[in-house]
Amino acid sequence: MRVALKALGCRLNEAELESWSNDFQRLGYSISGDVSMADIVVVNTCAVTQEAVKKSRQLIRKSQRINPRAKLVVSGCYASLEPEIANKIDGIDLLVPNRHKDRLAQIVNDELIGQAMPQLATVAGATALFIRGRNRAFVKIQDGCRYRCTFCIVTVARGDERSKAIADVVNEINTLHQQDIREVILTGVHIGGYGSDIDTDLLTLIKAVLAETDIPRIRLGSVEPWDLGENFFELFANPRFMPHLHLPLQSGSDTVLRRMARRCKTADFRKLLVEARSCVRDFNVTTDIIVGFPGENNDEWQENLLFIDSCDFSHIHIFPFSPRQGTRAAALPGQIPTAVKKIRTQQLQQLAPRMRIRVLQHYNGRGFPVLFANHTGTTTNGEQVYLGYTPNYLKVKFVSNDNLSLKNRIHHVRLTGYDEQEAVLLASSAELQDEAVTLPAGD
Ligand code: SF4
Repeated sequence: MRVALKALGCRLNEAELESWSNDFQRLGYSISGDVSMADIVVVNTCAVTQEAVKKSRQLIRKSQRINPRAKLVVSGCYASLEPEIANKIDGIDLLVPNRHKDRLAQIVNDELIGQAMPQLATVAGATALFIRGRNRAFVKIQDGCRYRCTFCIVTVARGDERSKAIADVVNEINTLHQQDIREVILTGVHIGGYGSDIDTDLLTLIKAVLAETDIPRIRLGSVEPWDLGENFFELFANPRFMPHLHLPLQSGSDTVLRRMARRCKTADFRKLLVEARSCVRDFNVTTDIIVGFPGENNDEWQENLLFIDSCDFSHIHIFPFSPRQGTRAAALPGQIPTAVKKIRTQQLQQLAPRMRIRVLQHYNGRGFPVLFANHTGTTTNGEQVYLGYTPNYLKVKFVSNDNLSLKNRIHHVRLTGYDEQEAVLLASSAELQDEAVTLPAGD
């Protein structure tokens, strides 16, 4: 039987798709990249905003329309927060809430297919990734969150913190590496809380992954800024641990941060950036900012812009605030009019590229080992175009004028400029060298 897996939303939803694909293969199913050809379709939904809920419902209906014959399984945050409503959508055969999703493949097999599948020797692994054109793997290390940021529905949808054992994470990464995956991203809902339920912590996990695997590149998913304990930045002395962190600031105004119930003030965030940049060469930081949080007055907004501008982020994910039923922020007074949110979002969208160019200009002429993902096209002169990422998560476009295939390879290139249109760094081929995995981050 063939299973098609679809997801919306965060990297954790993506990581769950990868582990479900392994689980289904171990049960003797095969993974299909085509919904119309599948016998079972699994949709991993998102509910972070009302818009995400709308898109989740659309994806469920679309899957049903494309293949009404298939068994339709729905999981994820939307299915967990509003099961009654979700269940009213025609064609759903099984709803698996978040608290059971780690066993989804077995539940589908037992409750929906109801047949004992032969234990085929199908080697689970990266098939689903490659089917979906990916060569970096999200590895789920934990789920749930103990905090209650006032805007966040995820902590409601995903429940308490629960961590995967260190040995299981290490085994999963070694299996992926055997399958030619060269980079893993450790992800979860609140990865800073990793180990809180199994008497360990994130630092110990990362040390174990560095010591017990040989995968060339290990990256962290989004991590809350207040979770990086002492000596954390010493980990980056190992060139296999990628010198980039996505640290959600959410706002550059302390009074707004207080209304968000965030545990990091701007002074703490500043201190963290200074420490990171003094300890780790080429340390790159990206972030999330919520625009138009309830009560955000003009002074707070200006304060926010000034602070963000002083942080030198290479990229900002901008989220206009949308009240999410079930969160405290949705009921806060002083909801900001849409028109004002729009103006502020535009102001931040103007600031972000300026800041990006300021950060990227420092890299011109430098050499970096880049993991090239996909071949994205051919120029009119027949040159091959590849996209990839530096260790510190800067996107690089490389035009190769020889027939060397760079797909899923790590190559050392020299950065030659910046394409503002595509927001990518450009690299020359002059410096192309055979794959050297653990070259220092940059020369
Ligand atoms: S720490 Fe992150 S996941 Fe937890 S409540 Fe806050 S925003 Fe949500």
